Amino acid sequence: MDAAKLKAALEERNEPKFRLKQVLKAVYQDGIGSYEAMTAIPAALRRELAEAVPLSSVAAATVKVSADGRAHKAALRLYDKKLIESVLLKPKPGAHWTTCISSQVGCAMGCTFCATGLMGLKRNLTAEEIADQVVFWRRYMRENKIKGRLSNVVYMGMGEPLHAIGPVLESLKILLDPERLGLAARHVSVSTVGIVPGMERFLEEFPQVNLALSLHAADDKTRTKLVPVNQAYPLKDLKRVLAYAIKRTGRKIFLEYVLLAGENDRVEHARELAKFVRSVDRKDLLHVNLIVWNPTDTRHEKPTKEAAQRFKDYLQLRGVSVTIRKNLGTDIDGACGQLITETPRIPSARKGKKRR
Ligand code: SAH
Ligand code: SF4
Repeated sequence: MDAAKLKAALEERNEPKFRLKQVLKAVYQDGIGSYEAMTAIPAALRRELAEAVPLSSVAAATVKVSADGRAHKAALRLYDKKLIESVLLKPKPGAHWTTCISSQVGCAMGCTFCATGLMGLKRNLTAEEIADQVVFWRRYMRENKIKGRLSNVVYMGMGEPLHAIGPVLESLKILLDPERLGLAARHVSVSTVGIVPGMERFLEEFPQVNLALSLHAADDKTRTKLVPVNQAYPLKDLKRVLAYAIKRTGRKIFLEYVLLAGENDRVEHARELAKFVRSVDRKDLLHVNLIVWNPTDTRHEKPTKEAAQRFKDYLQLRGVSVTIRKNLGTDIDGACGQLITETPRIPSARKGKKRR
């Protein structure tokens, strides 16, 4: 919701000061889905607010639930009918819930292994649209009597959060504001493909929020092939910004590495990655998350479990802190890189290649 608009509407009606807090709490924390249901508020005011200040900028088009009930994926409709996707996940039984939110409709970065990248960029989301995805899931959990707390948010859905950084920084304020979503900064993570100026600004303004850098290769030739924006911000720039991040935050930084069979999963790639990690001061603060590629098209191949394990073992033996990230929600196309709201445009040259 637009909290500034709500504040103005309440002031216009000479409502007492506590009213703003009351409505914000109902929407952001309690997951109340309509003014009608806010029974502590006078009925006439509820009717007026329903006209004047929409409760949410996103509306569910569809929701899919994985067989194990630990991944829920929503397609959310925006005011201009565009669709985004957002996912609610329980990483481990008994753990708190995490939501994976989108920052753009599509993405301009064009990473070759990512379904969102194939869409191109349609538009940036507003801060309100970004934060309302979390509000949506709080409400969904309440309405569907889903037990547990939604306490973690990752900016790992559609889009590159540090591309159009303004609305993303604004949305972080909404997430961390105790009167709105009230999340702990250490429970929020932003994942970036490595837009250096955006990373610098993010680190300046939100040093307590977790940062994940999607690396995918530690030599420029391989990385540029997979992540075209590497041409603008090559590895030497990323090293510099990682050193700055460590100095500024003193916190652990995550390196995301999607494994693609034959392309970046061989021993020479692991060697480069170990070298990269070791070259950064305080390598103890870097943690590598290996992600086995979720097939989204026919241009790449998924590595075997054994290949992923070998890659991990190689790094571990060389003192790199590393895990293979478990993919949740693949059966509902709700895993990383599978977020997409239209048919991808797969470059035609290799269209015929058989999917494994
Ligand atoms: N644009 C940001 C955040 C969104 S992507 C970024 O690139 O970091 C979130 C994560 O999913 C990234 O680490 C990305 O590399 C990974 N990802 C993208 N496509 C994937 C796929 N098909 N399989 C597995 N992970 C993928
Ligand atoms: Fe964009 Fe991230 Fe996908 Fe790359 S991996 S295309 S940056 S969403």
